[in-house]
Amino acid sequence: MFLSHDVDQIHDRELFRVLADLNHVRRIWTQGEKGDVALALRRVARALVAPKPAEKDFGTILEIEARHGFRSTFFVLHDPYWSRNGPRYRLTCPEIRRIADLVRGAGCEIGLHGGYLRFNQADGYRESRAALRDALGVDAVGIRNHFLRFSGAETWAAQEAAGFRYDATFGWADQLGPRDGQRLPFVPAGRSILELPLTVMDVTLFRNLGLAGEAALDAAWRAIEPVVQAGGLVTLLWHNNYFNEPEYRDWQWTYERLLERLAALKPWCATGVEIENHWRAVAENSALDAPQASV
Ligand SMILES: [Zn+2]
Repeated sequence: MFLSHDVDQIHDRELFRVLADLNHVRRIWTQGEKGDVALALRRVARALVAPKPAEKDFGTILEIEARHGFRSTFFVLHDPYWSRNGPRYRLTCPEIRRIADLVRGAGCEIGLHGGYLRFNQADGYRESRAALRDALGVDAVGIRNHFLRFSGAETWAAQEAAGFRYDATFGWADQLGPRDGQRLPFVPAGRSILELPLTVMDVTLFRNLGLAGEAALDAAWRAIEPVVQAGGLVTLLWHNNYFNEPEYRDWQWTYERLLERLAALKPWCATGVEIENHWRAVAENSALDAPQASV
């Protein structure tokens, strides 16, 4: 089992975030977008008056996972701050360093969240990898691209050329369950990079499919069950910035319930790099062509 988090933003009081929240309020009013105006406005007010410390949501995630002895991987975004769909923080800010310390202190992994426009560029990936090394002392082994940006062989080739040993981008944003029915990690034809396919992403459930409460939990579980039954790899992607948020309470609630249900199955839960190491060790020691991943 593979728990993961894409770190798109960390600051509560941040221009793009406040503008996005205000836009969300406008769309609730004018376009009937799902949401709670009072809670959304309270979120903006909090950001302006008493912003949430950047580390808080990470502490919450680690605490939720530690209840079951689980650890996870955090993919940290690198791209220019002002770019369209860029990260809303800088790798040099003190908060992300404190977050990195917190995450690594808990035995979790930091990987790269690949930038929106550089997803097929080996040089872009190399630059991001170096930035992560310089700022946080992380030698990233794994990657997942922002917005699940992915175009198949080209993406894998660029990631591999930049030195990544596994990718976790393979999934759909608008539907649940593994893309192309891929329930196990796999090495794409002609490549050496290992793919860890996605099973359920928070944004798919709550935003793209518009689910809420028990219905969201049930839908997620229906996507997870066949993967469990096939002895496959269950991969969850939950964004850090929807924790401790009254307006998005279902997001955190569903994550907590899913971990409880999964914990009851006594899975082997590991970080991406541990799964990668394990998979390659099994592949090497096995006489079989297709190694079984017991995760
Ligand atoms: Zn992202």
